[in-house]
Amino acid sequence: MVKFLDLLKINLAHEEELSEALNQVLLNGWYIRGKFHNDFETAFANYCGTSRCVGVANGLDALILIFKGYKQLGQLKDGDEVIVQANTYIASIISITESGLVPVFVEPDEKTYNLSVEKVKQAITPRTKAILAVHLYGQLSPMEELMNLALEKNLLLVEDCAQSHGAVDTRGLKAGNLSHAAGFSFYPGKNLGALGDAGAVTTSDEALADTIRTMGNYGSQKKYFNELKGVNSRLDEIQAAVLLVKLKYIDQENETRRKIAKKYLQEIKNPYLSLPTVSKSSLDHVFHVFVLRCQHRDKFIEYADANGVQTLIHYPIPFHKQKAYHEYSNLSLPITELIHEQIVSIPISPVMEENEVNKVIQVLNQFKPD
Ligand SMILES: *Cc1c(COP(=O)(O)O)cnc(C)c1O
Repeated sequence: MVKFLDLLKINLAHEEELSEALNQVLLNGWYIRGKFHNDFETAFANYCGTSRCVGVANGLDALILIFKGYKQLGQLKDGDEVIVQANTYIASIISITESGLVPVFVEPDEKTYNLSVEKVKQAITPRTKAILAVHLYGQLSPMEELMNLALEKNLLLVEDCAQSHGAVDTRGLKAGNLSHAAGFSFYPGKNLGALGDAGAVTTSDEALADTIRTMGNYGSQKKYFNELKGVNSRLDEIQAAVLLVKLKYIDQENETRRKIAKKYLQEIKNPYLSLPTVSKSSLDHVFHVFVLRCQHRDKFIEYADANGVQTLIHYPIPFHKQKAYHEYSNLSLPITELIHEQIVSIPISPVMEENEVNKVIQVLNQFKPD
């Protein structure tokens, strides 16, 4: 079976260094916001090109703390509208509603699955105060145009970088440095993955970074002095040590993903399978997942499974069809719904062997729905 993602193999590639880092955390004797935590924040800010990085507990918290941080600073208030693509993972949407803000859903660009600048423009109202751009599946959203629009309309632009660590735009700028503030997840399955939950905010807005750091530590900068009613959302010392090791390899691992994607794009030839649309710039996509479209998806998944290729769907149910968001069940989002009905993700990872890649291609090329 070609596994969808072999997490054990991904981490065993760095076994020696990871074991040493874990042991060093033990021996340092300082387990919250210690040396590894601070070193990772510095290293990740440098990597992304922002002046600041604040470690937090997970990717959802990163986004929530950005929105709540802006509220604390008086730049957002309850009921403000945030534009977001309707086909994103539910965490992006929860981050808006959990922060007391109102999500305004736009259909994605049908080819890139990301925000379309035109549709964002049409969705702007006098209550719109922010745009949340999700670099879905690892491909950058049109950030230069979105930033121009945000500046023109006086909006905050926030990035959800949970799937796009290391993606670079045509100007040479990295994900996490293409907006006012960005949220990252280091959930184990992401391109830069920890050995548990972890997340971070990157920004060059010093006031926001300070506010988020304080909010994530019970609203306290100085032990037992609480300025804000904060939360406990800190990047774990162990995870920071792991991430410092894995950060060294992210570019190399993304490059392996790109090579596999290129081969898929050149060699998967089947009229029943539509390949993803990628831009000419080769660096703006880090292929967190490789997403195909198939009108006969159920048959395809069954066929792939029977022939030794594991697949997944990112994501099978759009948010407005989820019980959690039943208040939006009457929304009509035909593009989002069509995407959710047809998409299917095939194996891609930095530890796939060449024979596995070839097997996926061979199996897919022989698929027929009847
Ligand atoms: C994974 C993910 C998140 C949430 O990250 P967690 O660390 O699991 O909280 C948010 N947005 C997107 C697009 C994601 O893929």
